[in-house]
Amino acid sequence: WTAKKRKPDWMKRTKLPGGDKYTEIKAKLRELKLSTVCEEARCPNLGECWGGGDGHTATATIMLMGDTCTRGCRFCAVKTSKAPPPLDPHEPENVSKAIAAWGLDYVVLTSVDRDDLPDGGASHIASTIRLLKEKTRGSLLVEALVPDFQGDMDCVKTIVDSGLDVYAHNIETVERLQGVVRDRRAGWSQSLRALQRAKELGAQVTKSSIMLGCGETREEVVAALAALRSHGVDVVTLGQYMRPTKKHMSVSEFVTPEAFAAYEKIAKDMGFLYVASGPMVRSSYRAGEFYITNVLK
Ligand code: SF4
Ligand code: SF4
Repeated sequence: WTAKKRKPDWMKRTKLPGGDKYTEIKAKLRELKLSTVCEEARCPNLGECWGGGDGHTATATIMLMGDTCTRGCRFCAVKTSKAPPPLDPHEPENVSKAIAAWGLDYVVLTSVDRDDLPDGGASHIASTIRLLKEKTRGSLLVEALVPDFQGDMDCVKTIVDSGLDVYAHNIETVERLQGVVRDRRAGWSQSLRALQRAKELGAQVTKSSIMLGCGETREEVVAALAALRSHGVDVVTLGQYMRPTKKHMSVSEFVTPEAFAAYEKIAKDMGFLYVASGPMVRSSYRAGEFYITNVLK
């Protein structure tokens, strides 16, 4: 459980992208002019996610509703504004067409928070999911990592009713650090209630993520895992917080791979359907592979 302050060796190791699946997906992406979070954020997991790992299930993440968020979380590099540009009404059609033509097995749709819109963008996200399912005749698995919609449960229902496979919303950190790490409009109970409601409304799988290295204690992490489980959350991921720029919140510690492994065991013992826990894990890390191995088999 020891922690380090300076970037340790285990954070520097990345597997170089490669393999047939990766090459095929990359070539097709250029043709479709689709942009992915994986490339824009220079995610270190690109090789594993696009390459499909051993199960050959390729996962990628796409951001909807523009590049400007109405919130300003202290860990996040996304641009922020009180009044971002209006939504592109053609985005659901265009993005779903491109993703359907891309040949992925599993897509994660994520988005900025749009507190300026009456439904927080829920109907826009739901239309994209519906169109994706139609265009791929249901063969593409869709995870949506959605906002808290300020606790508006009608918005949660709109997303659940879209036909998605995994309803994801991140609590990001432990209870005590919510106000330090996340925008003040976000919150512990609001996020847990939204996840619980999604499950009650019929979401097949619900999922959440926690970043470590923000100053949390081991007991607080275990309590956060227990809270997620008691709100019906099925899947959890734990990863290391990395500071995007000097203007962002600093890293309190680099949690060791052994500590991540210990959290994984604790979470599995609590009954989560599957758990991804490691220094490089992001909420969408090898999401398709994990889903297929643990839910469909
Ligand atoms: Fe970033 Fe999401 Fe926070 Fe917006 S709500 S600043 S996209 S983490
Ligand atoms: Fe893309 Fe997420 Fe995988 Fe990173 S972890 S490569 S953002 S799917």
